[in-house]
Amino acid sequence: MTPSLLQACAAFQEMYANTLRERPEDVLGLDDLDEAIHEARAHLGRAALHVTLTQAKELASAISRVCECGGHLTIKGRPDIEVHSMQGHAEVEGFALRCDRCHRAARPLHEKLHVAGVHHTTLLFERLSADFFLDKGSPQAARRLHEHHGLEVGRTTVLKHAEAQAAEARKFLDEKCLNAIEVEQQRQTQPARIEEVFTQMDSSSGKAVQPLQRPREDDLDEPIERTPVRGLVKTTRPIEGRQVKLLCAQGRGEAAWSYYAYVGEFEDAICPLQGLAATRGWRAGIPAVMTADGDDSIREVAQRAFRPKLHMVLDRPHAIEHIGHVTENAAAYLDAPVAVWAEGAKNLLHTGRVYDLVAMVKDIAARMPEGSKERTKVENAATYFSKRADATHYDAFIKRGWPIASGTVEGGHASIIHPLSKRGSGWLVDNLNGTVGLACVRQNDWWQEFWSWEKTRRASKKYAAAA
Ligand SMILES: [Zn+2]
Repeated sequence: MTPSLLQACAAFQEMYANTLRERPEDVLGLDDLDEAIHEARAHLGRAALHVTLTQAKELASAISRVCECGGHLTIKGRPDIEVHSMQGHAEVEGFALRCDRCHRAARPLHEKLHVAGVHHTTLLFERLSADFFLDKGSPQAARRLHEHHGLEVGRTTVLKHAEAQAAEARKFLDEKCLNAIEVEQQRQTQPARIEEVFTQMDSSSGKAVQPLQRPREDDLDEPIERTPVRGLVKTTRPIEGRQVKLLCAQGRGEAAWSYYAYVGEFEDAICPLQGLAATRGWRAGIPAVMTADGDDSIREVAQRAFRPKLHMVLDRPHAIEHIGHVTENAAAYLDAPVAVWAEGAKNLLHTGRVYDLVAMVKDIAARMPEGSKERTKVENAATYFSKRADATHYDAFIKRGWPIASGTVEGGHASIIHPLSKRGSGWLVDNLNGTVGLACVRQNDWWQEFWSWEKTRRASKKYAAAA
């Protein structure tokens, strides 16, 4: 705080203490005090905002009207300034000057307040409303801003700002991943920070909508549909299913995981996968373990990202599910009761005898009626295990401390992505992409870093605009 603010606080404290001494009946319980302080802060904030704006206006009005070139600066307009701050919403009238000789333009109040355009939002406003938005969605965020901070902000405003910050978060996330790869490359000659990196990857369906399409009235090819009451041209908003991919990485021995989510295809995951791993200390040459369901494209991507030092681990619940495909479809052909056979099959996987299991399953299939649906399913199970043979030696994996289930990434979908992707009536693809990025930034504990980055970006944009 500046010395003058500290003085103001001290003066308030003293005044408050004196008032209570004179009116002991006003001494409150702790909960009441909490509420009173909350309210007082909102009032003080609004007062401080008002004082700041008034002061800035006076300072700006007092600047010299003589230009550097010797010409005269005259008022050419009064552009408004709208400020969204955690201390409230304010509107002030700015003014624009123009030199009558060199035509240099200036907006002194805008400059004084660091407001680039007509609207200005403070970083704290953006940060808290983004935070509330991720938690509860825009209607609740708007309510919380009102209840906790005395701000009258509509849900559309919250949503609009969250989407703008989400786009920034996407840039931040990609920049951070690229930087991490570069930093680790530069450290190539120094000792590695981690022994091994663990990664997981998964996909889930998200709902996206296409931009609003308003049919043109003169479009004669198609009959125009109108709304029943007001007779407006009906708009369409086609829904498209889009996959949200979630990746996560953890250095061996670490407790926390870092997440990266995006809307798109698996093959776009190579760079983010490397980047995310690099934020945990991975670089080329350090072994990577990828635990995932049996999806072939995940293996392919992981190989391209981490080859030659990649170990695939087939998510154990998925493996067990495929053992289930055998017992469900070939119960009559097993040489032991179902539970016993399934236990034996699991044991073969655990002890690295997957090819014995494959042979056994093939044997069972051979005894089943040719061309039957059940036989095909059992044969498929055999193929499934032989294709993923290197990824099922669970006892060895456990011994090495590798995750044998991809629960982290699956849980991440449920707890980080779904609350956003399944919220509301649907997202434009870019907005969904940004928002899942924003959620990952916060989840990864990169929140503070993101807002500092954002502050620097804003400052350099202002600088660029001024220059
Ligand atoms: Zn001039």
